[in-house]
Amino acid sequence: MNYEIVMGLEVHVELATQSKLFCSCSAHFGAEPNENVCPACSGMPGSPCVLNKKAVELGITAALLTNCEVAKVMTFDKKNYFYPDLPSSYQITQLFAPICTNGRVDIETSLGKKSITLKQIHIEEDAGKLVHDSRTGTSLIDFNRTSVPLIEIVSNPDFREAEEVTAYLEKLRSLLSFAGVSDCKMQEGSMRCDVNISARPAGSDTLGVRTEIKNMNSLKAIAAAIEYESNRHIEALKTGNEVLVQETRRWDDTKGMTFSMRGKEEAADYRYFPNPDIMPVVISAEWIEAVRASLPESVEDKLTRLMETLGLPEYESKIITASKTLSDIFDEVTKHFDKNPKEVANWIIVELLSIAKGDNKGADDIKINGEMFAKLIEMVENKTINRNTGKKLLIEVLNNGIDPVKYVQENQLGMVSDTSTIEAAIAEVLAANTKTVDEYKGGNQKVFGFLVGQTMKKLGGKADPQVINQLLVERINAN
Ligand code: ZN
Ligand code: MN
Repeated sequence: MNYEIVMGLEVHVELATQSKLFCSCSAHFGAEPNENVCPACSGMPGSPCVLNKKAVELGITAALLTNCEVAKVMTFDKKNYFYPDLPSSYQITQLFAPICTNGRVDIETSLGKKSITLKQIHIEEDAGKLVHDSRTGTSLIDFNRTSVPLIEIVSNPDFREAEEVTAYLEKLRSLLSFAGVSDCKMQEGSMRCDVNISARPAGSDTLGVRTEIKNMNSLKAIAAAIEYESNRHIEALKTGNEVLVQETRRWDDTKGMTFSMRGKEEAADYRYFPNPDIMPVVISAEWIEAVRASLPESVEDKLTRLMETLGLPEYESKIITASKTLSDIFDEVTKHFDKNPKEVANWIIVELLSIAKGDNKGADDIKINGEMFAKLIEMVENKTINRNTGKKLLIEVLNNGIDPVKYVQENQLGMVSDTSTIEAAIAEVLAANTKTVDEYKGGNQKVFGFLVGQTMKKLGGKADPQVINQLLVERINAN
């Protein structure tokens, strides 16, 4: 018998607001532990809750991007459970009237195009973070993240393959990050995904026993966890050796396995009730239209602009628009150097990305001054420096924020363009390598590169390799 896998996703995304959801504490990631805490977000009874308007607007933005119906009135509820990093013992969330419902996200995989339907998106507050100290065997609590605004995007069980899940998460990431809803960094926890998974005989329309996998912080981990859990479910159904129970399971990336965490709760277990501290929020049609009108360039529009207006090839355009960070760098550099967008794309894709990769960083971790990057590319383009010097300068711009124009002057890195200097260097190289020259004349083309390299070395790496090539050939043939 054949089995099919059925999955639904719950994706939590941290909203890119300055402050938290119900107080004015900073929502910024990376502060010292417990630096951003006040009575409201540390759960002191009776603290006032003031809803963050920006969080609601980012929620409306997410609704528009995912084709959801925005609620006319939304309310907040309390979801009760005790956990050490949740100081109030309840999470403020939306159960009865979430910000929006019934959405759709279109994805494309090797299996073709597909629409994933959404049940709803709701706004809620994040919990804090437990930091386990294995040295002392204690756990410490960091409340900086408590009450940071989140949206939870709940899909219907429309996924059948891991590839669809990855495509959907990538699509959400690009939609939301380009619109400024969130930076969607999985490794920093600003985008987190829980997968509800079950198996059933192919063709059946009832759902099997479902488990929920948590604790995955990369697309790779998600794909691996789905693979593991799918096999476990199918194996259990086939052999009857294991009884599947509805539960929450933790993914262990090092062991490559899921482990039972706790029995899965139903909504009733949380004793949801309306939060009397926050008034219902009326979302008018005018407000929605104002948010729609202020949306920045979408990722689709950007792709079209790169390909059609700037004439970049599809491949390059897709790499640049796969990351909000890269795409911002591209815009910033071309703002300062607009003569050759194709060359700017090459510098970003070939040079910048490989430096980042060497430093174990992804595209989204790159921070670079676009104006300085532009100056550097311009100097290579107008032959003030050669490409190799340009590559070295890029590392300096990236790591030390240098001004490449000044740096080239101060370190005399300008290209040697004086032909007589290059010819003198060539003469020395040819005199010192007569055997190699004979090999070349005898038909061994490969040694030519060696001669170019030796000449370049004599010129401190600062000449135009094409000029060396040309003069070298002339000189050898003249002899
Ligand atoms: Zn606070
Ligand atoms: Mn949630």
